[in-house]
Amino acid sequence: MTDLTVFQQKLSALLPDFKLLFQEPLSKHTSFHIGGPAEVMAFPRNAEELAKLLKVSALLDCKPVILGAGTNVLAPDAGMPGLVICLKDVLGGITQLDNTTIRVMAGVTMTRAAVFAANLGLSGMEFAHGIPGTVGGGVYMNAGAYGGELCQICKQVAVMDMAGNTRILSAEEMQFSYRHSRLEEEPGIVLYADFILIPAPVEQIRGRMQELMNKRKASQPLEHPSAGSAFKRPVGGYAAALIDQAGLKGFRIGDAAVSEKHAGFVVNLGSATAKDVVSLLQQVSERVYAASGIRLEPEVRIW
Ligand SMILES: Cc1cc2nc3c(=O)[nH]c(=O)nc-3n(C[C@H](O)[C@H](O)[C@H](O)COP(=O)(O)OP(=O)(O)OC[C@H]3O[C@@H](n4cnc5c(N)ncnc54)[C@H](O)[C@@H]3O)c2cc1C
Repeated sequence: MTDLTVFQQKLSALLPDFKLLFQEPLSKHTSFHIGGPAEVMAFPRNAEELAKLLKVSALLDCKPVILGAGTNVLAPDAGMPGLVICLKDVLGGITQLDNTTIRVMAGVTMTRAAVFAANLGLSGMEFAHGIPGTVGGGVYMNAGAYGGELCQICKQVAVMDMAGNTRILSAEEMQFSYRHSRLEEEPGIVLYADFILIPAPVEQIRGRMQELMNKRKASQPLEHPSAGSAFKRPVGGYAAALIDQAGLKGFRIGDAAVSEKHAGFVVNLGSATAKDVVSLLQQVSERVYAASGIRLEPEVRIW
């Protein structure tokens, strides 16, 4: 125990049966493959464990951060002091509630949820097939693609506050808008979401999912680590087109680069650091503003 920090020692003493990793590289848990060590990374197996983790963190005066699949996060090179709670795969499970409604736990990937719905002959989630994040991360930021957004199919969300209390929020109460929900202003953890879907022929649903996956593969640099679209879609244009028009395809700082294949993506060409990516995002934003008068804002969450 001598190499452990005081926080690590306290947490392991208070939570002896929990899955806790110490000095766990965030680069192993983010799709950018960037980020230094988390002082403690915890993997709660259910809502009860999550609530206990939150209570113990509060006792130790620590504000934990939540990680899903890490596909929309830029984690700092120096790592994160304190506690990172990782929900991917651990807070799992999907249930069919009635003929048209499914309940998906936060740690399930959106792709898995879309396949589950398709197998039941339920349409509406096809757009989410291929978005690599979890349902928790997707609800947090109202993920969307190809004209669909989670808010269009979301009925309600179970949210745990940082004191470990859970309440159900309707889709309206979630205050969804473009790549946004109220959880960005008001800390809370998505436990599960209920989605209302529409019965349709299974082959039709699968066909649409395949069509969208083919579009992704044809247009996105999936061969390189990234966090998807680096910038939000601005009012009055498309980020990728504006970046391309500013002559920034291939623009590079260190190993962080604007993708040649899709100018909206910033990719890690090998050993990019968070500092490289942040500098690149700033430079791209400034140059696009100079060229077009439109200010781009990062979509990726910079920790
Ligand atoms: C190749 C690629 C393609 C992509 N394509 C798309 C796309 O088409 N459309 C799109 O919208 N996005 C896309 N993304 C981005 C990303 O997949 C989505 O934003 C996704 O919703 C993030 O989910 P996550 O589980 O990875 O969240 P993370 O990246 O782990 O976290 C993102 C934010 O959500 C918070 N969070 C995570 N889980 C929870 C939870 N349970 N409760 C509360 N807060 C939580 C985190 O604290 C963080 O602030 C793409 C990414 C990649 C790498």
